[in-house]
Amino acid sequence: MSQEYRIKLNESNLVIWKVTCEFGVFYDKKKYSFENAIEHFISFYDSNPLEENEEEALTDENDSYYLTSGENCWYMCDDQYGYNLEIKILDLIRSEGIDDIEVDGWGKEEIDFSEEDEDGNKVILTALSNYNEATDNNLKVEGDFLIGNCFNDFVEECPCNDCLKVR
Ligand SMILES: [Zn+2]
Repeated sequence: MSQEYRIKLNESNLVIWKVTCEFGVFYDKKKYSFENAIEHFISFYDSNPLEENEEEALTDENDSYYLTSGENCWYMCDDQYGYNLEIKILDLIRSEGIDDIEVDGWGKEEIDFSEEDEDGNKVILTALSNYNEATDNNLKVEGDFLIGNCFNDFVEECPCNDCLKVR
C-alpha cells in the first residue's frame, strides 16, 4: 500500500473550477435502442435531448448512431491555470461509460472553496470526488489539510516516492 501524505491546502496550487461543456454523444444503434440511449443520456446529464422529440431527428446520416447533445457543468480540481481541465473532464465522462463524445465548446470559471454545489455539498468535496474518479486518485480534505498518496497536480515538489523517482 502506498504511503499517505498531508499538505496544507492553502499552501497547494489547488483551485476549484466549474467547467461547462457543450457536447454531443453518439450511441451505437447496435448497442442501444432509442429509449435506452435517451435514458442513458438523461441519467448522466442535466439537459434533456428530447426537445426535438423525433427518433429521426437524433439519428445520424449513416443511420448507425443516435446523436444526442446537451450542455453540462462539473466541478473539478486543477492548478491555478486550469490547463488540464478538459482532459480531466473527458476522463470523467469516459469513467461514466461514454466513449464517443463530440465536444462543441468549453467554458471555465474559478470557484471559491466556501461555496456549495446544487445539492448543498461543499464544492471542494464534489470537485475532489470528480478529480479522484477522473484520475484514479484518492485525495481527500481533513480540516485545512489535503491528504493522499500523490499531489503531483497541486504542488511544485510532491513528496511521494513516484514523484521523487522522476525528479
Ligand atoms: Zn507524487
